[in-house]
Amino acid sequence: MPSTSISISPAHHPSTTHGRHAAIVEKPPALPALNGRSVRNLRRINTIRGAKRTVAIVSALFGAVLGIGCVVPAYAQTVIPTYTEAEAAAAAASVHAQPVHAQPASLPSQGLNVSAVAAVPPVTARDHYGVTLPPPPPALEWPVPAGTRVSSGFGPRVSPCAGCSSFHEGVDFDPGNGAPIHAIAAGVVVETNSPGYSALGVHVAIQHLIDGKTVVSAYGHMQTGSMHLKVGDHVTVGQVIGLVGSTGASTGPHLHFEIRAGGTTPVDPLVWMHAHLG
Ligand SMILES: [Zn+2]
Repeated sequence: MPSTSISISPAHHPSTTHGRHAAIVEKPPALPALNGRSVRNLRRINTIRGAKRTVAIVSALFGAVLGIGCVVPAYAQTVIPTYTEAEAAAAAASVHAQPVHAQPASLPSQGLNVSAVAAVPPVTARDHYGVTLPPPPPALEWPVPAGTRVSSGFGPRVSPCAGCSSFHEGVDFDPGNGAPIHAIAAGVVVETNSPGYSALGVHVAIQHLIDGKTVVSAYGHMQTGSMHLKVGDHVTVGQVIGLVGSTGASTGPHLHFEIRAGGTTPVDPLVWMHAHLG
């Protein structure tokens, strides 16, 4: 401040004003008159100083609070280990017991829901409901057990007997006298002991619809009295329709088996059966 250098300069130069040195020293240097601007500056300085002082006080108080906060946990840590095990157990028991006793009366429904879920049978019990259905019956099967010996095949042949055909319109199986004969497929009886087929003895013909086509299967030389079907009867696949015999133009017990494509045209039964059995 320029006013300060003016008031102090006499004290620093006593040689020039030696006689008045004492009076000048005893008299405090006159402070420069404060004008309005200086007063405002001084008030602002005081205000800043006051604010700084307030900040310092607040900071000190905050530091003190932090100090207390840091001290209290340390104090608590040193106190907790002084509890005995019995006291700790009692405290733990009270903690576990409180939710049970303090549970509102409206909450038991949650407990019921839990017990209802627990009552559901375990998932593994569902295996009990797995049902293995028996395989569906085949749509087509052999009239006698597969692999039965064939004594005479389909086609031209030397007539084996008087009245026997020279063109064999079927195959002859030898499963043994009295062996059961099965319908190869479901169908309807279209012929029994027809006079036109007397060479077949006791026989039956069944019409089927297989792979969308009409086909007739015929069975001859059955034992007398073993076949009870009549035209129009429905049969199922595998149904026993008679027993192996030697009626008609036959030299011995066997099954004469025919396949008539379209109901009238004889075809090789072995070829047709293998083709349709897959
Ligand atoms: Zn035959």
